[in-house]
Amino acid sequence: MKQYNFCIIFLFAVFHLNGQTASFISSNGGSYKPAPSQCLPSSERAVAEAKTAANVALLQAQGKLPTANEKQIVLFEWPLRQAAGFNYNSYYGISNYVDHNTNVPNQLEDWNCGVRSYDLADGYNHQGIDIFTWPYSWCMMDDNQVEVIAAAAGTIIYKDDGNFDRNCGFGNDPANAIIVQHADGSRAWYWHMKNGSVTSKNVGNTVAAGEYLGVVASSGSSTGPHLHFEVDLGSPSFALIDPYAGPCNSLNTSSWWLSQKPYREPTINTIMTHDAEPIFNACPQPETKNISDCFEGGDLAYFAVYLHDQQINELLEIRIYRPDGTLYVSNSLNSPSTYSASWWWWSYFLPNSSYGTWRFEATTVGQTVTHYFELSENCTPVEIQASALLQGPLSGGLMDTDLYAAGMVPLIDSYGLGESVTSMPSNIVDWVKLELRDPANPAIIMGTRACLLRNDGAIIDPKDGSTSVKFLGITTTSGYVAVRHRNHLGIMTNNAVTF
Ligand SMILES: [Zn+2]
Repeated sequence: MKQYNFCIIFLFAVFHLNGQTASFISSNGGSYKPAPSQCLPSSERAVAEAKTAANVALLQAQGKLPTANEKQIVLFEWPLRQAAGFNYNSYYGISNYVDHNTNVPNQLEDWNCGVRSYDLADGYNHQGIDIFTWPYSWCMMDDNQVEVIAAAAGTIIYKDDGNFDRNCGFGNDPANAIIVQHADGSRAWYWHMKNGSVTSKNVGNTVAAGEYLGVVASSGSSTGPHLHFEVDLGSPSFALIDPYAGPCNSLNTSSWWLSQKPYREPTINTIMTHDAEPIFNACPQPETKNISDCFEGGDLAYFAVYLHDQQINELLEIRIYRPDGTLYVSNSLNSPSTYSASWWWWSYFLPNSSYGTWRFEATTVGQTVTHYFELSENCTPVEIQASALLQGPLSGGLMDTDLYAAGMVPLIDSYGLGESVTSMPSNIVDWVKLELRDPANPAIIMGTRACLLRNDGAIIDPKDGSTSVKFLGITTTSGYVAVRHRNHLGIMTNNAVTF
């Protein structure tokens, strides 16, 4: 299998149109599931086990590996999280559990007596949990959106990095990987991470529960970005554990999770607006997301919902609201099947009226996710290059950066405007508000952005890190520019400036 196995099911017939029909254009969607791969070919497993045994012997001789205490109870946190600055409602799906049926091929049984696993004719039964990132796995990997974290505290006893990380199928490339030994001697295997992302800690160093280990990717024998999470009892020899307690777990009776997730957890991962149909390119090319959060009157807009564990006949509803809170259109879908991951979109023409910030909502099984977008007379941004100096921290032409140096400038803006950065650019003094005001009446604010103030006075757009701050929906060709700060007096240009 050399590329992702996409099963896009066309389901026009099952959509129920219960809202306005005038603007409805089309809809589509279906299942998304990465093809299985032999996450740890036997050759790679043998090498990892040999290296681990050598590391353990050395660490024990050096007195650096605590003696396994079987009375210690080790419980796991979820081994993934979103990196700072990303805020999808959820970001993963599960493609495979441990296969407890030791016969092959296609004789499967997971911990809950289902068949969410795989085996191979060569005798391989899947030994871990495959958690894939979703939606847009390759973009998520390129953006470092989903991090692998230590499920429990322990000592690193195996580490590999520097390997190719965009594999699309079976192979003998080694994975970027970590094995952590816990207090009870058990071990967690974290496989397939991004080249160069693996923690700078080394074999023999300890990690805390929840500590960063790397970024989800597709190194090793892998068909797409996912984490293979595997647990074994450790010395004296490998003995597999399935962290899930369930009626068909043949390996252990109790759960190893701090809080075991249900077999299926129907969840809206995120919802998005697009200006064209999203495209899943051939592996390993990043997806063409065609995301747009600004539309002009009369534009065709695509409203997409991305889910994991959507189950058959579950109702999914979408609603699109005008800026005044009135409903523009709604639609719904009864899920035609049960999916590990799925996505659905509806497209509509937007009106030449009701300009402003619109709200798109999706609801399923009692959970609602919200996304805002702009309907504007003009989505071509006005770009403002502005600078400002705060008198207090100013000395010798530069402002001091004590807050930045102390890591105290928050990644999310201080004004509740929903702006954020994934990492703080260098030499930032604080967040400021940049406003464009009406050229005829400067009391009227036409647009507001939360921006980052650099120590040389430059005002930085947090969306792209540039010194040109973008404002959407501005219909005038000039305006007053004002800078405001949470505890300094605001300032405004004497005259309207031309954009
Ligand atoms: Zn796996």
